[in-house]
Amino acid sequence: MQDCIFCKIANREIPADIVYENEQVLVFKDVNPAAPVHLLVIPKKHISTLFDLSEGDSGILGQVQLAAVRVARELNLGEQGFRLVCNCGREAGQVVMHIHYHLLAGRPFQWPPG
Ligand code: AMP
Repeated sequence: MQDCIFCKIANREIPADIVYENEQVLVFKDVNPAAPVHLLVIPKKHISTLFDLSEGDSGILGQVQLAAVRVARELNLGEQGFRLVCNCGREAGQVVMHIHYHLLAGRPFQWPPG
């Protein structure tokens, strides 16, 4: 989608530090990390928010989560664990309107989140 920063990253129109890619999913480093490990896991297909998912997108979401776990394993996070967060909408803190999951690790996290 034009004017979507994450579509531009997926299309290599703007640079990003990409750590994993397959046909449907891209994983890259968050430019403003909130933890020692802070990656963004996105479907290459433009879907603005979780509310915009359709039944046919269930496979994509599975691919997103599998990619997150694959990268977490590659980073040896099996012992310490990681957090996978998807902000949906304004009050949840979603700023970029292209579904993305934050993969966070490398420090303890609080619950509930602020
Ligand atoms: P959210 O608040 O859930 O929409 O998260 C958007 C995230 O995208 C933030 O953590 C930003 O730091 C990150 N971000 C924005 N632009 C870029 C970019 N060009 N490359 C990597 N991360 C980005």
